[in-house]
Amino acid sequence: MRPVYLDYAATTPVDERVLKVMLPYFSAQFGNPSSVYSFGRLARAAVAKARSQVASLLHAEPAEIFFTSGGSESDNWVIKGMALALRRAGKGSHIITSQVEHHAVLNTCSWLEQQGFAVTYLPVDELGRVKPETVEAALRDDTILVSIMTANNEVGTIEPIAEIGSMLRARQIFFHTDAVQAAGHIPLSVEELHVDALSLSGHKLYGPKGIGALYLRRGFLPDALIHGGGQEREMRAGTENTAGIVGLGEAAAIAQAELTAEWERLSELRDWLMTEIKTIPGCWINGDEEYRLPGNVNFGVTGIAQDTLLIRLDMAGFAVSAGSACSAGSLSPSHVLTAMGQDADKAGSAIRVTLGRFTTEDMLQRFVEALKTAVAAIRKQAAE
Ligand SMILES: *Cc1c(COP(=O)(O)O)cnc(C)c1O
Repeated sequence: MRPVYLDYAATTPVDERVLKVMLPYFSAQFGNPSSVYSFGRLARAAVAKARSQVASLLHAEPAEIFFTSGGSESDNWVIKGMALALRRAGKGSHIITSQVEHHAVLNTCSWLEQQGFAVTYLPVDELGRVKPETVEAALRDDTILVSIMTANNEVGTIEPIAEIGSMLRARQIFFHTDAVQAAGHIPLSVEELHVDALSLSGHKLYGPKGIGALYLRRGFLPDALIHGGGQEREMRAGTENTAGIVGLGEAAAIAQAELTAEWERLSELRDWLMTEIKTIPGCWINGDEEYRLPGNVNFGVTGIAQDTLLIRLDMAGFAVSAGSACSAGSLSPSHVLTAMGQDADKAGSAIRVTLGRFTTEDMLQRFVEALKTAVAAIRKQAAE
């Protein structure tokens, strides 16, 4: 039997409808969007349409959307680019972020530390929440930039971005949020969130891999990350990934049209799954059960290492993960669960199950049975 995919936070399949609109841009409509003749004009129009579709998802202006190669590039570009530009303007060199960010943000910040910037990595509470008052207390006269993720990729906790944003807007401090896990899954309005920049990625919302976007509020000019031609209003050089851009646009449009219904459907499935898991002896839920991504369930199991359970679940035909895709294969416990105060044993038992567009109730029922069987078998083996 075909394995059941329950790792939508790692990546999502490209929706058939997205693939269909992308295909012509690999063949008949191959033009370079910078060319003046008709081939170029058609490609240019397609890129413009996609820019509007992405802008619409975020309630932003098309001119505020820049296409990149993905979430990692968006994070790197905006944080490095704004840090360098603001320091050069004499505004300061202090950056604030949190301990639970994706490594695209954390490792960018540690690179900036090597360039002479000071970085504060804020702690979180036991549910993974960054408190607005913690952000406020960390502000200094030379703080130039704050980056806090919209929703966590491991435990699904949704951060209080609107509160943090309005506090920072009043102080005119540049605020970026990594919304890669949230975009297309929960309603996002850049106005309501009071963010100046927001990262998203195609492959986390049923679009292709290797394409993403950065929302950058009008008036901000980070240094470019990629220098060359004049594409993306001279902010990001290189011939556009037209097919990828068209795919991201379509994925954004579909996500927006189906967001409310899918949000409700997945939240219900998620809540059912969390309730079931809590009935298994020794199992608990990691993260905030209320302020949580609709598709995320992350749980721990007393006395069972995550690898042991993952292998059993894989043999039973279920693809789930140990924390994030990026930390898979590494032996150190999750930096997110560690920041949430869990010791190595607890954090080392975490399993992330993420649901998505093609997840059904039947799949989850079978998953719960497989999980109960696997936990019992491991316990029995350990007792022998
Ligand atoms: C996946 C992910 C990224 C990286 O996005 P890519 O498009 O794979 O580079 C960044 N941040 C978060 C929160 C993610 O989940």
